[in-house]
Amino acid sequence: NTTPNDLRAFWMPFTANRQFKQNPRMMVAAKDMHFSAADGRQVLDGTAGLWCVNAGHCRPLITEAIRQQVGELDYAPAFQMGHPKAFELANRLIDIAPDNMANVLFTNSGSESVETALKVALAYHRVKGDGSRTRLIGRERGYHGVNFGGISVGGIVANRKMFGTLLTGVDHMPHTHLPEQNAFTRGEPEHGGDLADELQRIVTLHDPSTIAAVIVEPVAGSTGVLVPPKGYLKRLREICTQHGILLIFDEVITGYGRLGSAFASQHFDVKPDIIVTAKGLTNGVIPMGAVFVTQEIHDAFMQGPEHMIEFFHGYTYSGNPIACAAALGTLETYKQEGLFERAAELAPYWEDALHSLKGEPHVIDIRNIGLVGAIELQGVAGEPTKRAFACFVRAWEKGCLIRTTGDIIALSPPLIISKSQIDELIDCVRTVLNEVA
Ligand code: PMP
Repeated sequence: NTTPNDLRAFWMPFTANRQFKQNPRMMVAAKDMHFSAADGRQVLDGTAGLWCVNAGHCRPLITEAIRQQVGELDYAPAFQMGHPKAFELANRLIDIAPDNMANVLFTNSGSESVETALKVALAYHRVKGDGSRTRLIGRERGYHGVNFGGISVGGIVANRKMFGTLLTGVDHMPHTHLPEQNAFTRGEPEHGGDLADELQRIVTLHDPSTIAAVIVEPVAGSTGVLVPPKGYLKRLREICTQHGILLIFDEVITGYGRLGSAFASQHFDVKPDIIVTAKGLTNGVIPMGAVFVTQEIHDAFMQGPEHMIEFFHGYTYSGNPIACAAALGTLETYKQEGLFERAAELAPYWEDALHSLKGEPHVIDIRNIGLVGAIELQGVAGEPTKRAFACFVRAWEKGCLIRTTGDIIALSPPLIISKSQIDELIDCVRTVLNEVA
């Protein structure tokens, strides 16, 4: 049994983690859809860990790939040398990416992928001789990790307010939660074009020729599954194209099958210039991220040796053999089991199950797309997060892992979930909604 003394050194500085130390929820093993808790209970994983374990836990192809790689080639630098699996992985990723993507840079996390994408975007304009494009545009309620670039373009004030100005020249578009919010809209709400026109306003305000890139999550995930209205992303694309601005999709959550296609870009049929990924790339098993860029971006950097020196970027662990082996095992699992297609097939069932919670206590909105969903609760006055957090604690006690962000319950199960497990998860949420004050 874990004692408070055992927990003293490890620090995750979020407020909610303070409560955790009083009441540790320890997991000691996992298989497929379940965690084994330290007290011996099985807990159904309704969140794919932290939106990453898309193929389910401890899957044999992934485990075996890592095991083999560790015994064969443990590490190889990606500076002036390489190893075959990094190249194989990059090719396989390009094969499943939108067809305008040509090259991949490897990182070790979502946050690093975001920083990489922002640096590539800024440097791209420079190597093309357009040094005046220095501004970046993000979005309110956008989450792009915890590093300095990511919190600058991110739209969560609480995450950045203690760090001063951060990256300068950053603006934010409004988020996509429509005025007619709390509408229990299934899938994509109607009427998105006019919301996207807000980008046009910001672009005009600053002069389009000063703007380097726009970064958005196609579906804002960790701030509550904000599904963009129809036409919204297409309109962003049009505005960016019109003004020579790069469009970056942060697909750290939406990538690798969550919406029923490899990437959200394909689901929405919108081609960004850069795609940021991590999480599901290795099924969450080994830290790794990948940033996809177009041929045009790649080629701009490769015009002359001086440009290559100008853009120094890459990590000690970029494309390291163990992570590459894990990613290859993951992609193979997705493919062999048709998990992206499975997510698409299950999406209507998932939608119905989620929306069956309409009318339950505290529920003021339900949103869904692909195999992800959110149940927004009426907050307790003056105590945001309290009610949803109480649901999380009770659900854990009842054997289901759900996630909460503010007063929103977010669900994103592994794509291997069965219909009866969907019922179990939703029934658990129904029960806790009826129990909490
Ligand atoms: N971008 C998005 C959209 C994310 O959801 C996350 C993580 N939740 C990140 C970036 C950061 O990823 P990481 O925690 O791996 O740094």
